[in-house]
Amino acid sequence: MREPALVPRLRPFTSTVFAEMTALAVRHDAVNLGQGFPDTDGPAGMLETAKNSLFGGDNQYPPGPGRPELRAAIGRHRQRYGASYDPDTEILVTAGATEAIAASLIALTEAGDEVIVVEPYYDSYAAAVAMAGARRRVIGLVETGNGQLELDLDALRDAINPKTRAVLLNSPHNPTGTVFSRGQLEEVARLCVEHDLIAVTDEVYEHLVFDGAEHLPLASFPGMRERTVAISSAGKTFNCTGWKIGWICSTPELVAAVKAAKQFITFVSGGPLQPAVAYALDNELEWVENLRVSLQEKRDRLSAGLADAGFAVRPSAGTYFVTADVRPLGFEDAAELAWTLPERAGVAAVPVKVFTDHPDEWKHLLRFAFCKRNEVIDEAVERLRKLV
Ligand SMILES: *Cc1c(COP(=O)(O)O)cnc(C)c1O
Repeated sequence: MREPALVPRLRPFTSTVFAEMTALAVRHDAVNLGQGFPDTDGPAGMLETAKNSLFGGDNQYPPGPGRPELRAAIGRHRQRYGASYDPDTEILVTAGATEAIAASLIALTEAGDEVIVVEPYYDSYAAAVAMAGARRRVIGLVETGNGQLELDLDALRDAINPKTRAVLLNSPHNPTGTVFSRGQLEEVARLCVEHDLIAVTDEVYEHLVFDGAEHLPLASFPGMRERTVAISSAGKTFNCTGWKIGWICSTPELVAAVKAAKQFITFVSGGPLQPAVAYALDNELEWVENLRVSLQEKRDRLSAGLADAGFAVRPSAGTYFVTADVRPLGFEDAAELAWTLPERAGVAAVPVKVFTDHPDEWKHLLRFAFCKRNEVIDEAVERLRKLV
């Protein structure tokens, strides 16, 4: 028998839980709170700008680093954090944050290198580290006194060794909704500087923080500007997850490195959408602020409903997601519940343990997306109430 065609290092990544869960949701006509995408459109002015580009002849390859007006708008937007990046040498437009992360790891790490990843982690991270040929070194989150989660800084200190090349950090954090505090980020920054590590930061939820929490880019901490690849994307900020317009901000050297990989993965993408994202970054941040407020209300709406249905709901300070403990409902393993939930209750959610290397430690949590219309959230809650 021939060996399986797929190389061993990618064999763990053949299917995603989202595809399986969505298929189940469709089969049982379930309300799908599994996958994190909004069910309403982004700002009308942005869509109008995209339409004008499509019909105005902007349909060929944009420049490799991205359209200049988009890079300029990204630079202006990034100034909200007191940071300035040169649009010509320090900003690169990518096919979403996903490509930005993969291209960064492929360009900056290789066999023998270790990349520190925080679990639970966004599902593309492990695959991207594997594609780069590097090794992931997983650290976790720990509970603080008030039920919040924070980085396990002791584990981070223990994980760093001479092979460590990079730290991949996501805040606001999918799937837990944790926004890492200034004190925690200070310590991460200090360790990166002390050990000469590169930080790759996934900031796609930078605008979606609640209750007065503040998004603090790791690049803004002392010594970090020169060693951080800061990644964000239009998808979550402007309700356009299908557009896949992302970007990185970093030093000329790091941007040139990531570009070397990126230009032979996709070269460019979304040419006619790039002017629309530029327009949105310059003109639609008030729309985003309204989105943020409405998502905070939706978080409260879904959290209250889940609590009512018997779940022990965890606090979420940002993102599209809230996690909930299934043990009060009499389950030990949330995956067991998740696989039967579409059929039993007509709702789909994702077990958090699929985002980890230590499923036992995370097996009691389910992740629910609240980036949905209120009537969709209410219908899901109504159905879940019948569980008990
Ligand atoms: C949605 C998401 C991404 C993917 O962003 P794209 O721009 O769609 O590629 C990356 N990281 C996290 C944490 C996400 O939730």
